[in-house]
Amino acid sequence: MPEPLSLTARAHQIIATKLDENTIAIDATAGNGHDTVFLAARARRVFAFDIQALAIANTCQRLEQSNLLEKVRLLQKGHQTMAAAIPAHYHGRIGVIMFNLGYLPGADKQLITQADTTLVALNAALGLLQKHGIISLLVYPGHAGGEQEHQQIQTWLEKHRAGEIALDVFQASQPKPTSPVLYIIHKLE
Ligand code: SAH
Repeated sequence: MPEPLSLTARAHQIIATKLDENTIAIDATAGNGHDTVFLAARARRVFAFDIQALAIANTCQRLEQSNLLEKVRLLQKGHQTMAAAIPAHYHGRIGVIMFNLGYLPGADKQLITQADTTLVALNAALGLLQKHGIISLLVYPGHAGGEQEHQQIQTWLEKHRAGEIALDVFQASQPKPTSPVLYIIHKLE
């Protein structure tokens, strides 16, 4: 049997269809830089956020190794500031925004994304996207604080589902309540 796609691979597969040399993209959680490199290899310009210096350094190094650093603006800032941090002429022109929540693998597990700021960032992201743009949102209910963040995200998704967004949901084939969930959010208008 073929291996099932991991949720990160699934996110990349879906997002790849939305990326071309004109796309402006945002990585809302740069982490170790895998998504930033993926976006930068395909898009025109990428803005990548992370609050941790280690994450920005790891992402910078990975981009340099792939010769992609010049396409990326690295911002050591919370993603909740993205509306102010992204130049105004890009507002409404962003094609793809990626979130990979939780903690940075290999670093402090206490330093996690927080529901309050995640929701501010999701609202900002929806405003920055162009029509038919997409947000990928990978949520990890399994770690301390993750389930509460997931619940608030589900409430947010339900609220916006009434007209503003279409939603695809992916999980492992036999998910537990603690299994990660991938949401692909399509902006309709
Ligand atoms: N859980 C994923 C990796 C997530 S990395 C996995 O296992 O592969 C999540 C990143 O989000 C971390 O690097 C962390 O520093 C960052 N982060 C936390 N709060 C943030 C915020 N408000 N804005 C931007 N990045 C944030």
